[in-house]
Amino acid sequence: MTNGRSQQLLLFGIFVGLIAGAGTGFVMGPDAVMFKWLGQLFLRALKMIIVPLVVTSMIMGITSLGDVRKIGRIGGITIAYYMVTTGIAVIIGIILVNLIQPGIGAGIEHAAAIPDVVKGKEHFSFIDVIVGMVPSNIFDSAAKMQILPLITFSLLFGGVLTTIGDAGKPVIQFFHGVFEATMKIVHIVMWFAPIGVFGLVAGRLGEVGGGAAFMGELAKVGKYSLTVLVGLGIHSVIVLPLILLFVARRPVISYVRGTMQAILTAFSTASSSATLPVTFECVKEKNKVPKEAADLVLPLGATINMDGTALYESVAAIFIAQSYGIDLSLGQTMIIFFTATLAAIGAAGIPQAGLVTMVLVLQAVGLPLEGIGAILAVDWFLDRFRTSVNVWGDAVGAAVVARVAGLRSEGQELNLRV
Ligand code: ASP
Repeated sequence: MTNGRSQQLLLFGIFVGLIAGAGTGFVMGPDAVMFKWLGQLFLRALKMIIVPLVVTSMIMGITSLGDVRKIGRIGGITIAYYMVTTGIAVIIGIILVNLIQPGIGAGIEHAAAIPDVVKGKEHFSFIDVIVGMVPSNIFDSAAKMQILPLITFSLLFGGVLTTIGDAGKPVIQFFHGVFEATMKIVHIVMWFAPIGVFGLVAGRLGEVGGGAAFMGELAKVGKYSLTVLVGLGIHSVIVLPLILLFVARRPVISYVRGTMQAILTAFSTASSSATLPVTFECVKEKNKVPKEAADLVLPLGATINMDGTALYESVAAIFIAQSYGIDLSLGQTMIIFFTATLAAIGAAGIPQAGLVTMVLVLQAVGLPLEGIGAILAVDWFLDRFRTSVNVWGDAVGAAVVARVAGLRSEGQELNLRV
């Protein structure tokens, strides 16, 4: 799986798996659920890798930088990149939803009750996200696959390892070994990706009743879905590539090609976290982004950098306002801008997390939570596109941070100077 030809073959296989899965689910309808287990196998194998990968990559990233000033600089550039790109995504969403106005005359029936997915989450607050960043028990966080608290611990642990001299070296060496072994497992798991992707897509379409049933649901909120998709298209095909070209100074086509396995995995799993192992492989091994940047930017990005989710949050909230005939003032639109950004940061990298954190946006401007019911049926579908954009944004971010911080891929070997 190291040479270019076998990689091309694998990518082709994943494409075929995706198309075949969509075709099978579309035509077979509910019967396609029989293939779901193939997808489950692949998904579980990816998830199995997340915890060791996050912990070791953060420790590797921080220890290979060594110098605290470098950490601060990389951290600053990373946060700036996240904020700028997420902000641009939300602005694209706000402009488009106001231009297209999908909610006006949408004729959707509004649910009388708050949908089950957000029930009990009415009090979602951003403060909870911040408090949750510090684990009270790292094993509990690992068991629940909460990535953010694991990142906090690993950063701290890796940081202090570099300050204890010789005592830290074997520990760093150990984690380096674990990291390399984990990446090897990713290589192996990826050979199962074509079948896994097939199972995930066919199974999901089967669950929603197949092509005809799904198209019916999509048609009800067709204009809204189109607005989200056009926005995601503009952000991923125009904005991010321009940043990649002019800031990271990377050739766009080859970078896209190198990231494609991760983008397709994101589409199939609807989870940035589950895709993380593949993103690593694509960014570091195929696109040769220096590990000092990739190791830090990717795990953090998978949980807090979500351009696609932010864009969707703003479109969905304003769509709900339009469909209820509620006029939003400029001030309220500004609030949507900020809360959509926070809601995207707060969303975990798991399927439909953005739908739940949208509570924050709706409540901030006093919109009815029942409105979520109108977009529920198509959310799993749009989730796949926004997750792909989220992962693409992370991959671009790693290249940008590496370039702006002046890191080179030559420094790939383990740096044990402490
Ligand atoms: N599924 C998305 C992700 O994992 C989050 C969301 O928008 O629901 O990136």
